[in-house]
Amino acid sequence: MSYKAARLAQLAAVKERPATAGPERVIWQITRACDLCCGPCRPAVFDQPSPRQLAAEEALDLIDQIRRCGQPELLLTGGDPLKRPDLLTLVLYANRVGLEAGLTLSGTPRTTPRMLGLLRSAGLSHITFCLDGPTAAVHDAFRRVDGSYQWTIDGIRVAQAIGLPIRIETSVTAATVDHLDALAQWVGRLGAKLWQVTFGNRPERDPGDSMTAEAHVAALERLAALQGIVNFRVRIMPATYFGLQNPAAVCLTPWIPFELFVADDGAVQRWNSGQALGNVRDLGFAEIVRRGSAQHEARCVA
Ligand code: SF4
Repeated sequence: MSYKAARLAQLAAVKERPATAGPERVIWQITRACDLCCGPCRPAVFDQPSPRQLAAEEALDLIDQIRRCGQPELLLTGGDPLKRPDLLTLVLYANRVGLEAGLTLSGTPRTTPRMLGLLRSAGLSHITFCLDGPTAAVHDAFRRVDGSYQWTIDGIRVAQAIGLPIRIETSVTAATVDHLDALAQWVGRLGAKLWQVTFGNRPERDPGDSMTAEAHVAALERLAALQGIVNFRVRIMPATYFGLQNPAAVCLTPWIPFELFVADDGAVQRWNSGQALGNVRDLGFAEIVRRGSAQHEARCVA
């Protein structure tokens, strides 16, 4: 099956294109603080929260505004979201107003059984663990902190033990692309229901680790071929920059969901697009959604 046919089949099977103008997911970087050192983003994160980070009151107000724009999945991420002291309050509040809140994190010493239990009690719907290689050598080399792989695997085991659904997210770069097949087997053994494979790493961020167009397409095709074979959903997030820089490749990514990314300081863009939509400190979230929706529709029609 060609990549295009497989991708279309995947999309038809997984979810029909939503009829509303609202985003399917809001990915919110609740803090940039992080103790890991992954190559693609280390220059953009800090040991301590940025002074520009949305304060607790602003954060709760944003949750209210997101809810008024529909019922998108709310994905809390970082940085290391466990470095945000009011994380449990945010999960509780999102749950109370009717938003399904999930969490994405990389394993660190903060990924304790106690914290995972508290998150589950607060109403967290699922937790996505970042796993970038099938072995400690590959994963830790990507995260650049020894022990990250084991903290991740330990966290997955605890989540499974307490009944917290897990997902796996993998960043595809030149350093990890050769391990996708082995990772797919791992994801199956771990019992994850979804494997999100995100192509990222804009060339300007890390020129030494960017992928060629050929490698990008080859990886997309290998992943698409897994659909229907593995017992979990494979959610492929091609790099938007790749399509923009390679117009002929846009046909390989016929549908990209409408997702918004909220940075720790409130700046919003369409996920992985690099195109600013405004800041929630200056604009209502509904207006930002309207702008993002217009951009998204234009991209889909193009
Ligand atoms: S764990 Fe995430 S936020 Fe932290 S350095 Fe790595 S990619 Fe960046």
